[in-house]
Amino acid sequence: MSITATAKPLHSGDIDFLKNLVGDKYVFTDEASLIQYSHDETEHLSYLPNVVVKPGTTEEIAAIMKYCNAHIIPVTPRGGGTGLSGGALPHLGGVLLSTERLNKIIEIDERNLQVITEPGVITEILQEAVKEKGLFYPPDPSSKGSCFIGGNIAENSGGPKAVKYGVVKDYVLNLQLVLPTGEIIWTGANVLKNSTGYNLTQLVVGSEGTLGIVTKIVLKLIPLPKYDLLMLVPFANLEKASEAVSSIFRAGFVPSALELVEIDALKIVSTMVDSHAVPVNDAIAAHLIIEVDGNNQEVLMNEMEAISELLMQYDAGEIFFADDAQQKAELWKLRRRAAEAVKSNGYTIEEDTVVPRAELPKLIKAVKQLGAEHGFHAVCYGHAGDGNLHIRINHPTIKNSYGNEEMTTILRKLFEIVHGLGGIISGEHGIGLIQKSYMDIVFDAVSLNIMRNIKKAFDPNNILNPGKIFDLN
Ligand SMILES: Cc1cc2nc3c(=O)[nH]c(=O)nc-3n(C[C@H](O)[C@H](O)[C@H](O)COP(=O)(O)OP(=O)(O)OC[C@H]3O[C@@H](n4cnc5c(N)ncnc54)[C@H](O)[C@@H]3O)c2cc1C
Repeated sequence: MSITATAKPLHSGDIDFLKNLVGDKYVFTDEASLIQYSHDETEHLSYLPNVVVKPGTTEEIAAIMKYCNAHIIPVTPRGGGTGLSGGALPHLGGVLLSTERLNKIIEIDERNLQVITEPGVITEILQEAVKEKGLFYPPDPSSKGSCFIGGNIAENSGGPKAVKYGVVKDYVLNLQLVLPTGEIIWTGANVLKNSTGYNLTQLVVGSEGTLGIVTKIVLKLIPLPKYDLLMLVPFANLEKASEAVSSIFRAGFVPSALELVEIDALKIVSTMVDSHAVPVNDAIAAHLIIEVDGNNQEVLMNEMEAISELLMQYDAGEIFFADDAQQKAELWKLRRRAAEAVKSNGYTIEEDTVVPRAELPKLIKAVKQLGAEHGFHAVCYGHAGDGNLHIRINHPTIKNSYGNEEMTTILRKLFEIVHGLGGIISGEHGIGLIQKSYMDIVFDAVSLNIMRNIKKAFDPNNILNPGKIFDLN
């Protein structure tokens, strides 16, 4: 067992060190602050840190890491705290390091179509700032109003636009990183191509705060498309809706978003936000939300028409076209708030499966079958165009999967099905704390050992976010 950083009370000398370094007003040990930072959006899990620290500079973070490495104190980095796999949970106590004060967009480089930013900038704020210059940063997790760019890097986040534009990894050019041992490095260069040595930048993307703390980020931007069109397509049959998804791509279309939302999720979110924008009658099983974007409106209209005709072969119902910005915003609000709505209605356990797109119907069928066998209700929604299905489970008695033997057995069955379909257990939410015991389903021992050795190379004392992604023993 080589987990060395364990829950232990910090000494008053540790707190004094932190206060001297970042200032008294940025170090918190009061109960309310510890509780506030004890949870993210994962299930109903909560672990108290010993102290919450809010450094304001890269150098302060480097000094904190050097100190914690020397004194073997666990450090959990945190962005906006919207994570769904428990990456920001301080499950071993220690220092909770919030990046919220590193919240400046340093430069929007219009000559090179790049932005340099600190990690604590809210994703939507960055998107709006570059949009004002006619530029586009596409990754748009549904949590974009509260998650941070740094958290997005750590999770390799996606969102609805990923189907056409890719995920965070496709936009990250270079990162400033504070290593667990306190050194500061840059992982690459601010260039569009780079075959120079191992790709440390991409290794850090998606590493869930286990290899270093990201303190500056260089992102690629693209020109903002001028127009987008949005439609909502009802289906009486859930499997038909999921079959229709892959047919759209086979026919040669690449929508800028292709989302599936099962009717139960839409009913719950419509009630929560008091919206009547979407029909939710009992004859409907699911909706597809389809967006196309580009610079020629006529081309987009023809594309929408052709997609609509194709969908008729899959028994689509009456299609609703969002006419103006307000209708589009209303539809997106319903989709984006689905997760929050179903969670508050008892669907606390969330899975983030991905299968090859054409296998979606089989996955959905298997989910419903598992629910019937094990006495839970599941709703499915998500980025169907990517084959990325979020499965929300409402079990009458089990509300957390983590640490629950019965739910762990059920989820192992689910993930074995996913793996059998050629899929993977997380597409964008990460492994964190709650999915680590399923890593052996998708990786063999040799691959897992390589990952553990990479972790050791960055973090020999295992003090940075220990026990996330995998145990080190
Ligand atoms: C309602 C809702 C909808 C969501 N929709 C989507 C979606 O559509 N697509 C999607 O991909 N995700 C989605 N998510 C998940 C979540 O928002 C993303 O994973 C997001 O990227 C987390 O960012 P955060 O700033 O909140 O990170 P946190 O939750 O604070 O942290 C996440 C991980 O990043 C690490 N971390 C944070 N900052 C840094 C840093 N500077 N350096 C190193 N490590 C760091 C933490 O240690 C942790 O492991 C959704 C979540 C919610 C609650």
